[in-house]
Amino acid sequence: MSDIAKLQKLVDEEAVSMGHNRDPKIILLFLLEELGETARAFLKESGHKESNDRIVESYKQELGDVFFLLLSLASSRGINLEEQLDYTIKKLKTRTLEDS
Ligand SMILES: [Mg+2]
Repeated sequence: MSDIAKLQKLVDEEAVSMGHNRDPKIILLFLLEELGETARAFLKESGHKESNDRIVESYKQELGDVFFLLLSLASSRGINLEEQLDYTIKKLKTRTLEDS
């Protein structure tokens, strides 16, 4: 089992044990929410947004939330993220060669 597969399994087990909703549509919405929190934290830390009570975690902490939900979303649909990462890297390399 790859490291990514192990992480997907760990996250899936944690999500189930914490009683998280396993509906992919709901997980996707939470992922989008976390991406918004990540953007807000980045804007605050880069000086583009003033701090307020809605910005409680750091940019890197929010990235952890995004990663958790990305792994959880993939697992909820039986998607192997390592395979998809390999696909994306090959796709990007092909595009880079075609563009040059
Ligand atoms: Mg968050």
